Amino acid sequence: MRGIRVWARLLGLARAVVEDVWMTADGAVVVAARPTARERDRCPFCRRRCPGYDLGEGRRRWRALDLGTTFAYVEADAPRVACRRHGVVVAAVPWARHDSWFTQTFEDQAAWLAVNASATAVARLMRTSWRAVGGICRRAADEARAQRDLLAGLRRIGVDEISVRKGRSYLTVVVCHDSGRLVWAAPGRDRKTVEKFLDLLGDDRCARLELVACDMADWITRPIAERCPGATVCLDPFHVVKLATDALDEIRREVWNEARRAGEVALAKELKGARFALWKNPENLTPRQQLKLAHIQRINQRLFRAYLLKEHLRQIYRVDPGDAAGVLNASLKWAWRCRLAPFVKLARTIRDQRPGIEAALRNQLSNARTEQINTQIRLITRRGFGYHSQEAVIALAMLSLGGLCPPLPGR
Ligand SMILES: [Zn+2]
Repeated sequence: MRGIRVWARLLGLARAVVEDVWMTADGAVVVAARPTARERDRCPFCRRRCPGYDLGEGRRRWRALDLGTTFAYVEADAPRVACRRHGVVVAAVPWARHDSWFTQTFEDQAAWLAVNASATAVARLMRTSWRAVGGICRRAADEARAQRDLLAGLRRIGVDEISVRKGRSYLTVVVCHDSGRLVWAAPGRDRKTVEKFLDLLGDDRCARLELVACDMADWITRPIAERCPGATVCLDPFHVVKLATDALDEIRREVWNEARRAGEVALAKELKGARFALWKNPENLTPRQQLKLAHIQRINQRLFRAYLLKEHLRQIYRVDPGDAAGVLNASLKWAWRCRLAPFVKLARTIRDQRPGIEAALRNQLSNARTEQINTQIRLITRRGFGYHSQEAVIALAMLSLGGLCPPLPGR
């Protein structure tokens, strides 16, 4: 390979002919190219060959991956074609996605990085803005979703809401319980959003759903009951354990406030620092946290009792499914008598939601699994805020957790 064709390889240009190469005044490399004859005059949406329409806005540049530390661009004509289905559109080019100012290799690398590193790291390394990376993730996710049907063969799903921007807006997410993958996400948490998902799924696939795990909110359970006749609605174990953890935290705050008011500074400080030790699963505690817990047992019986209640309830998802109902009964009996208001309230909720809880047990939904899925989604959405738009959060979540992340180019 000699001369000008080397540039096609350097910039990862396939199905294109390089016409010229030059350096700009500020030291960037520009490679002028055109699509090969086979690739010309194609609609970017259906890839069909179309009659030419006009020259569009003339020459156009796409940012390519840097060559070492040098900026690189592909330059080409951007004529418009008249597609029978899609109207007048800028013709597709083989090196870039439709409506993008970056080459596909640039976008694939940026999207891969966005999945694997922080927003700041991606923007600095790729020498572009957060907003641009958000747009790149969106295009990469849209393309992958168009090529792969994530909703095929769904049987057991979880539907949940995720709070973004500290509760100022919400996403509804759908997870496949068999693969652990995120299969759908959209802004909003209301009946309309759930119905949008069911519309997309279609009647046939709705009828084939066997299990829907959720937090039993009406806006999820009603449309599911109406349109998915074969689906059992379960109370997601993650939510049951979270209710118990919340009740425990309420007691911790009470005890802490009492200590503060009584002027017991050392005790108050200790209780404040104990949050993680109380909250974590005991099998994951560090030796220091174990000591902290032992200390709480000595100094505050009420708080320690609340901790034991939480742990007892968590056991229903760890024992043999056959024993779970017995453990749940024991748990409830204890909670009713414990004289800790938040846990009495919890016992009432559990009593009301019991059919959903038992359905989850019957179907062997484990809390470890649901917790893992929820934690992952929350981490990714939090990282996605860096890109400043809800669409970018969704795109990043789909790339990371829907298994849609593009491979790194050229390897
Ligand atoms: Zn078309």
